[in-house]
Amino acid sequence: MYWEKEIETISPEELKTLQQERLKLTLQRAAQTPFYRKLFAQAKIKPELIKTKEDLQFIPPTTKEDLRSGFPFGFLSVPLTEVVRLHSSSGTTGTPTVIYHTASDLARWSNQVARSLFTVGVRKNDIFQNMMSYGLFTGGLGMHYGAERLGAMTIPIGAGNSKRQIWFLKHFKSTVIHIIPSYALLLSNLIKSEGLDPKTDFNVNIILLGAEPHSEGTRKRVEQAFGAKAYNSYGLSEMNGPGVAFECGYQTGMHLWEDYYLVEIVNPKILTPCQPGELGEIILTTINREATPILRYRTKDLAFYYQEPCPCGRTHLRISRIQGRADDMFIFRGVNIFPNQIETVLMNIPEVGANYRIILSREDYRDIMRIEVEIKPELFAGELPKLERLRERITNELRAEILVTPQVVLVEPGTLPTQEGKAIRLIDKRKL
Ligand code: AMP
Ligand code: ZN
Repeated sequence: MYWEKEIETISPEELKTLQQERLKLTLQRAAQTPFYRKLFAQAKIKPELIKTKEDLQFIPPTTKEDLRSGFPFGFLSVPLTEVVRLHSSSGTTGTPTVIYHTASDLARWSNQVARSLFTVGVRKNDIFQNMMSYGLFTGGLGMHYGAERLGAMTIPIGAGNSKRQIWFLKHFKSTVIHIIPSYALLLSNLIKSEGLDPKTDFNVNIILLGAEPHSEGTRKRVEQAFGAKAYNSYGLSEMNGPGVAFECGYQTGMHLWEDYYLVEIVNPKILTPCQPGELGEIILTTINREATPILRYRTKDLAFYYQEPCPCGRTHLRISRIQGRADDMFIFRGVNIFPNQIETVLMNIPEVGANYRIILSREDYRDIMRIEVEIKPELFAGELPKLERLRERITNELRAEILVTPQVVLVEPGTLPTQEGKAIRLIDKRKL
């Protein structure tokens, strides 16, 4: 059983006590690391005086750049001999960041994931096909060990190779899949192109969508395609990986496990706390980890929190789906736009297919936004005026949302490039 009732429905008072005990230990561990030792000295912080979540404001936040600057051992708080694994996030823009885990860190992470999976109904008799990439990326191994801990038969198939995915889905009748949302849309189309129906020819009834921002419309499409429930799974490698926050059966926001993290949601510019419903940046402090304590990590992920208790009875903070990343936002002719706004519009238009991309360029000192949209194949067989009307409708709906007029180009399914990992939706050529 991974329904940890006492902890999942903990009262606010008890949670506070637990968090304070764990914060104390975390600060002691942090003081062992070169990075925080220096930070505490420079900022004249006495860690023993930081006692509550409110006191955290006296500690400057830690950024991704700080993690990079600490490469390789700046955040390590135990002897290297105690470390049994490291994960590292992509170093596409320079030095990678590294997170170390002791054996008990890994055990706790597996519990965290097992609890999350149990929350959405995964059980021992499930067959779990893990379509996330294995390796340094945490989506594969992180979820894998949680599913095994729960006792589900786990298929470590990894990302991509759609034909093999389909073969496994067919032969093992996998009941749960863990998949990147953009890939879920593509895979369902591929399945159909093989003459199969993802709804009736397979046995998938739970889908875990994670690793990239996606809209409610995308979730609905995935659910309809597979005839299954799709749940939002949020995590980031700096905070372990999957299992940081997870939806419950009610699908109204994700519970962020507060026995593992202290959560702040703040105005990304001035870092003041947000009110319920107000979009802000998530800042997380690990309080249940030994090897790599991180204090007030700026995730750059934007969400809001709900004040009303969740009908499921879990008391851990409920946050909205991630609406975008603070650094995803682009400015186009003076307007601030998040790619997710565009996705939300597109995925609510039934004629739109599985893939799209946004290309920004500059011609004669003027910014151009081109949005290439795959549309359902049958529409290309129709008359041209009809197609043009569709293009106009998509353009108008986008303009209503983003307040500028993009150039919309309709393309056939399969035209746009796809990625095995997280989808690349935005190409900003203005910076090249
Ligand atoms: P990584 O550290 O490579 O695993 O990437 C973590 C980042 O992926 C997070 O900071 C988010 O920006 C994004 N991400 C992960 N899960 C989700 C999710 N369920 N919804 C939206 N974004 C997500
Ligand atoms: Zn709930």
